[in-house]
Amino acid sequence: MRVLVAVRCWSTTRTVRCLNLAAHRPVTVPTQYPRAPPATSSRPSTPWHRPPHRPDVLPGGQVCGAAQVSGGQGGRWVADSGYGPEEGNMTSDRLIEKAGSYLQRLCVGIPSRRVGCEGNRAATDLFARIVSSFAFRTESPEFDCIDWSQEGAHLTADRASFRVFVSPYSLGCRVRAPLVVVSTVEEMEDAEVSDKIVLLRGDIAKEQLMPKNFPFYNPDHHKRIIRSLEAREPRAIIAATSRDFVMVGSQYPFPLFEDGDFDIPSVYMTEEEGNRLAEHAGKEIWLESRAHRIPAKGCNVIARKGADPNRRVVLFAHIDARIGTPGANDNASGVIALLLLAELLAGYSGDLGIEIVALNGEDYFSNPGEQEYLAANAGKFGEIILGVNLDDLGYYRGKVAYSLYDCPSGIGSSIRTAFSNYDALVEGEPWDQGDHGLFLMNQRPALAMTSELLTELMAEITHTPRDRPEMVDPAKLVEVALALRDLLLALDQQRA
Ligand SMILES: [Zn+2]
Repeated sequence: MRVLVAVRCWSTTRTVRCLNLAAHRPVTVPTQYPRAPPATSSRPSTPWHRPPHRPDVLPGGQVCGAAQVSGGQGGRWVADSGYGPEEGNMTSDRLIEKAGSYLQRLCVGIPSRRVGCEGNRAATDLFARIVSSFAFRTESPEFDCIDWSQEGAHLTADRASFRVFVSPYSLGCRVRAPLVVVSTVEEMEDAEVSDKIVLLRGDIAKEQLMPKNFPFYNPDHHKRIIRSLEAREPRAIIAATSRDFVMVGSQYPFPLFEDGDFDIPSVYMTEEEGNRLAEHAGKEIWLESRAHRIPAKGCNVIARKGADPNRRVVLFAHIDARIGTPGANDNASGVIALLLLAELLAGYSGDLGIEIVALNGEDYFSNPGEQEYLAANAGKFGEIILGVNLDDLGYYRGKVAYSLYDCPSGIGSSIRTAFSNYDALVEGEPWDQGDHGLFLMNQRPALAMTSELLTELMAEITHTPRDRPEMVDPAKLVEVALALRDLLLALDQQRA
């Protein structure tokens, strides 16, 4: 489990703790791939090219334009599904409309999908209901988790008050105690902080600390800081942080701790406030933080179809969203592409096993859904001929970028051939974050799909309240679903 290294992400409000494939295995992407010859099926004269979906023009995920179906390779199950290429524009319009309505349901009808909350359960229930209606065998394995709520924090020293924020998933506290200021882990190890409030600033607070039980990555210097704090038992922690672009993007200040398994109450503040507070070292200060952990349950949703489960393609999209965001791109977009794909596969009766998975926990401190999936599939990853991960892929600007990891040449060329029929798809840079790491850590080939302008998306929108439906172009999700359908058909036909 230590083959993966932390991934730094550019999000504005939190760390995405993902699975770093780069550390696992370097991936080289040629700058130019040979283009597959056009498919023999009819290609519309005006393919998917459409003006960009303008959020200011089309609020609320309204659907615009008449995109047309491109690609499509026919075949028995495609025809059975009722979405064969012969249906052309009618199909695409209907699917785009459906994608728009799923967006509204997942991001507006359900205001939050954070793991453990009611909305998260509503989202997994909705997903299970929809895929079941397309004749998938569906199960929803549960896991324990916590939900969390907070009503702010208050800090005073003498008569001065300071602006502080509650660390996500922290316990609350009401503490009057002397202040100790610590800047390095060595200072921490020599300090007397028991029964005191400790202010961490400078070097010790320069990067966000990985949650103590995060299974995929945990550097020794983070563990050393956590260990020294737990051994010395301060009554509360105040972290004065500056910026950690790599880990938490432009968020200032950032929470040093985001860990529901770490039990020392903590808050965070800006570096400037930290400098002001440090002048009160040795004096009694008062900290009240109102925060609550709520025991909860969550679940993955796993939907299967196809005669041969021992030879299967697994498709992931994480259904949870970060606290405080509607999560339209991240990751209602991937979830919706899977729902559309499930519909396109309604009549599928091929041999190739198809497993569609709504993973629940990619944006949560301990990745419980990912851990549940790994445990349930221990020893069975060899059955997976290809793992697909869809995340943050509907951004209204740019295209949808796909990248291949350790794919045998036959699968690689099937992917490129199927996807070459869709103008919204482009082969992009390797993307070293996300749930496709689960496949790679088990030595399975993987395909990841995300937005071509991911850096821009992560820097400005992902994990913020701005990640609303109007930031997603539903037509792109339809193209992804159609392209994946074509790919699965091709792989099924190659089963011999
Ligand atoms: Zn995501």
